[in-house]
Amino acid sequence: MNKILNELIQLQELEFALMEQRQLVDESRLADLEKSIATLMADLPDNIAAVYSRLKRQGPPVIVAETDGRCSACGMSLPTSQVGAIIAAESLQRCQNCNRILYHLEAAPRQSPSDPRQKRAQAGVARFSSVDLMLPRLEADSGRDAIVELSELLAAQGFVENPEPLASAALRREASAPTALGHGLAIPHVRGVEGGGLTFALGLKPDGLKFDPSAKEPANVIFFMVIPAAASSFYLRLLSGLIETFREETARGKLLDCETPEKMWKVLSKLTAKTIH
Ligand SMILES: [Zn+2]
Repeated sequence: MNKILNELIQLQELEFALMEQRQLVDESRLADLEKSIATLMADLPDNIAAVYSRLKRQGPPVIVAETDGRCSACGMSLPTSQVGAIIAAESLQRCQNCNRILYHLEAAPRQSPSDPRQKRAQAGVARFSSVDLMLPRLEADSGRDAIVELSELLAAQGFVENPEPLASAALRREASAPTALGHGLAIPHVRGVEGGGLTFALGLKPDGLKFDPSAKEPANVIFFMVIPAAASSFYLRLLSGLIETFREETARGKLLDCETPEKMWKVLSKLTAKTIH
């Protein structure tokens, strides 16, 4: 069953990657992803593939983590006997409340209950980030290090409780389908984070870094997103707004010229005024 659960998680990541690539309309990546999804589906036992398809029609996510005895999608507290069965992973376990497939995750990333943004009402990009989450010069030289650096920033500024589970969840996501999108952009992310709202940190690397071993061009604008389980459709709107703005070289250039978080925040807010509502 562990193999099947891993395949289901991988399948879901590919489906999310496919939705993301549709925002970019990168035809070559679309075909690759569709092929990988078909291969994984064919590899699953028929009854499990049927459950997956049925749940997908109800709306993603299909497979979610159980942490501390709770379903991370709907928050329902699960019976102790079922938690045991989820950990043992000998049979497919589903949440009795939301029907989703469950797998065990020891330490889920959590957003901090003292999210600094809760204090004020906001519009535009300020709903999703803050001047405190702008990093004008990343020290990182790789996607991996950039993810660690931005996770530490999110924790240091009080947006997440602990940077390690966040960074490792983002790196697992990268392993299944890299998030370097071309145009110098990379949008690593972690889905299903408990508590808080949709949040991103932004790191710049004017000279560029090799985001993943297969990346064809360097990335220099890196948005690291923390996505709560309930924010899937919201997230795609934010993602497409950021991509629409920053696939333009002039917009990226204006951002990369910024040398302080304050300047970055001002430029980001101005450039996304029309694309992020
Ligand atoms: Zn549930």
